[in-house]
Amino acid sequence: MSSIQLVNLCKSWAGTKALDGINLSIEAGSFCVLLGPSGCGKSTTLRIIAGLEAASSGQVFVDGQDVTQLPPAARGLAMVFQNYALFPHLSVADNITFGLSVRKVEAGEAARRLAQTAELLGLDQLLHRKPSQLSGGQQQRVALGRALVAQAKVCLMDEPLSNLDAQLRQDMRRELRELQQRLGLTVVYVTHDQSEAMSMADQVVLLNQGRVEQAAHPRHLYAAPATTFAARFIGTPAMNLLRLQDGCIAGSSVAVCQPGALLGLRPEAVSLGGAIAATVQSMEYLGADLVLRCAVGSELITVRADGKSDIAAGASVGLHWPQQAEHYFDPQGLRLH
Ligand code: ADP
Ligand code: MG
Repeated sequence: MSSIQLVNLCKSWAGTKALDGINLSIEAGSFCVLLGPSGCGKSTTLRIIAGLEAASSGQVFVDGQDVTQLPPAARGLAMVFQNYALFPHLSVADNITFGLSVRKVEAGEAARRLAQTAELLGLDQLLHRKPSQLSGGQQQRVALGRALVAQAKVCLMDEPLSNLDAQLRQDMRRELRELQQRLGLTVVYVTHDQSEAMSMADQVVLLNQGRVEQAAHPRHLYAAPATTFAARFIGTPAMNLLRLQDGCIAGSSVAVCQPGALLGLRPEAVSLGGAIAATVQSMEYLGADLVLRCAVGSELITVRADGKSDIAAGASVGLHWPQQAEHYFDPQGLRLH
C-alpha cells in the first residue's frame, strides 16, 4: 500500500499543453479513477506516475518520496494496459511470471507467488494455456496477475476493460474492486466511462483539458458538482442546465436571481404532476425508466419518469421538483450553491 501525491504536474509537447498544473493526493489503499473525455490528459498523467513519460515540470511522490527522477522499475509500480500486452507464444503461467524472471526473483519464490496469484484470480486451471485459448475476461485477469505477482505497491490501469463486452465489463468491475479491497491495493485507474468511475472509485478525479475539474468521492461528485462541466459529465441522462431569466423559470420563482446564472436539475429530481406546464416532445423507453424531453417555455427539460408511465409524445404534463434538488451555477459555470 502506498500513497501518491502529484504536485503541479505540467506536460507540454511542441504546441500542445497536455497537463496544466495537476495537483492530486491519492490515499494508500484507495481506488482512484482518472475520468474525462478523450484527450483530457488521463493517460499522460498515468504514464508520468509510472515514469514512462517525463513531466515538463512538477513532482510525483510515492509514500512521501520524490520519485520524479526515478526510472519506472525503481518506483515499485505495476501497470496494466488496455491491450493487455500478453505474449502470445508464452503460457499463462509464463506470462504471469515473466517480469519475475527478468528481475531474477528466485524460482521457489516465483512459483509460490504464481500459485497464490492464480488462485486469487481463478486462473489455476488455465496456467498451461496460451493467451489465444482464453476469453477476453481471462486474458484481462492474466494481465492483472502479472501486476499482482510483482507485489507492486501501486497498480496503474489504463482503460483495462474497454476491449470487453458490456456484460463481462460489469463482472470485471465488480471483481477488480473486490480484489483491490481484499488486497488493500492502491489503484489508479483511467477510464472515459463515467458509470465505470462512479461504480468503482473511492475518489473520482475528473479531468478537463489537462486540469483537475473536481476530485471527490462519487457520491459527492454527483450530489454537488463543482462546475457545469462536472454536472454534465456525471449522470445519465445528464443534468438539465437552464439559463435563468429574471430569476425565474417558466413562471415559477427560484432561489437564485443572478442574471445569466444556470439552474441545474437532475432528470430524476423532476416529477410529473406539478404546476409547471410542459409539453412532451419526445421520449425514450428504457424498461425501468421512461426518459421524457419536455418543453417548458423555450427550455427543454429532461425528466426521468417511471417506465410504467403511460405517456405519449405531444401530451401536456405538469412538472414539479423540490427546492433542495436545485443546483445553481454562475454564468462562468462555477457552482453557487
Ligand atoms: P487521454 O488519455 O485523456 O485521452 P492523453 O493523455 O493521451 O489523453 O493526451 C492528452 C493530450 O496530449 C492530447 O491532446 C494528446 O493529443 C496529446 N498527446 C499525448 N501524447 C502525445 C505525444 N506523444 N506527442 C504529442 N502529443 C501528445
Ligand atoms: Mg488515454
